[in-house]
Amino acid sequence: MTDPLDALDLPDGHRLAVVNAGAGLAATPMVHHDGWRRARPGDGAAQALLDLFAAHQGSRRIGRFTVRSWTPRSAKGERPMGVDQTNESVIVGDTAVVKWATHLQEGPHPAPRRITVLREAGFTGMPTPWGLITWRPPGGEETVVAYADEYLPGAVDGWTWAVDAVTSAAGARDPDAVTPTATALGTLIADLHAALASTASTATDADAHRWHRAALDTLERACATGDSVCGATLRARRAVVAQEFGILRTLAGATVLDGHGDLHVGQVLRSGDRFTVTDFDGNPVLTAPERVMPIPAVVDVAGMAQSLSHVAIVARRHTELDPVAVRAVEDTARRAFLHAYVGRLRVLGHAGLYDPHPLRALRLIQVLREMIYAAAHLPRWMYVPDAALPALLDDEETP
Ligand code: ADP
Ligand code: MG
Repeated sequence: MTDPLDALDLPDGHRLAVVNAGAGLAATPMVHHDGWRRARPGDGAAQALLDLFAAHQGSRRIGRFTVRSWTPRSAKGERPMGVDQTNESVIVGDTAVVKWATHLQEGPHPAPRRITVLREAGFTGMPTPWGLITWRPPGGEETVVAYADEYLPGAVDGWTWAVDAVTSAAGARDPDAVTPTATALGTLIADLHAALASTASTATDADAHRWHRAALDTLERACATGDSVCGATLRARRAVVAQEFGILRTLAGATVLDGHGDLHVGQVLRSGDRFTVTDFDGNPVLTAPERVMPIPAVVDVAGMAQSLSHVAIVARRHTELDPVAVRAVEDTARRAFLHAYVGRLRVLGHAGLYDPHPLRALRLIQVLREMIYAAAHLPRWMYVPDAALPALLDDEETP
């Protein structure tokens, strides 16, 4: 292995190294056995990280690293959870998950502040955070290298649980069967925003201008994605969509906060009856500086509301369900989600955080992002925006 750029010592002959991994920087757990080598689950590096957190609560700087620790607990016994696009995750003692960042995101990273604020507000709708380590490159901004949080046994994300809920309600021709689940989701997101309310401020004219420019830029890029049903639809109705985006220009003076920023059903885990929000890495389509900027709460709400439409499209694709029944379930789910969100926010005294006016325009942006993403990375996902775009454009009463 090449020499690390930097390393943080962990207890018992382990360390967390920042290495050049070709495509970018990676955080790598290391173990000492006649010299340093990469640690695998079972080598004790994740346990050592939890021991480091347990030894000292609060925040401290160690060279270019900052260690934030929130629990005196530790755990023993490692097993792999798996490797995804951003992390290698290790389950420790069936109580914690350690996530090593295998692809360091360009800083500033939104998670440290979001997670700190949520924790201090007593928010329980996320897996309980155990600790977080960031690293600041020379001349650069702080980014996350390792994170540990509560392990939720059997957790699945909404591309599983929401698809299952819509499939079973549509199969039974009982749209109201999704209401409890959609209500739990709306309540969770209202609790999230209420817990982030201390970060609220007012959007400037420059913010509104930037959102409008970005939306028109997204429209242009989506129109330029080659042959697809949604591409043709969008090019034919480009002027109408551009006009809808005009509402973003009017958002100067709107309330903004440090929201989730990349909210959709895939960011909500279900473990038994418990729903939790995860992944505060910010929206990958934005630049790093944009990812930490405050947003209107309706941006998160639109991301979640539109993902419920995408869930219905996925459910239809993989089953023989009657499209009319699926549509009824989708409408019920979205209405129940929005109703619960607004109701809960009001109960918590934070109704002022949410203005629904840009909801439809923001849902459209979400569809265009799916088009751009599918065209660039995942062509087999294009059936989702192919179905979602005409449905949204033709639905006059869409909130
Ligand atoms: P990413 O989006 O970067 O892949 P996430 O934080 O969204 O990372 O997690 C990816 C998956 O890992 C989730 O869909 C879930 O299945 C699992 N997972 C994440 N955190 C936990 C946790 N605390 N407990 C159990 N499973 C988890
Ligand atoms: Mg995720």
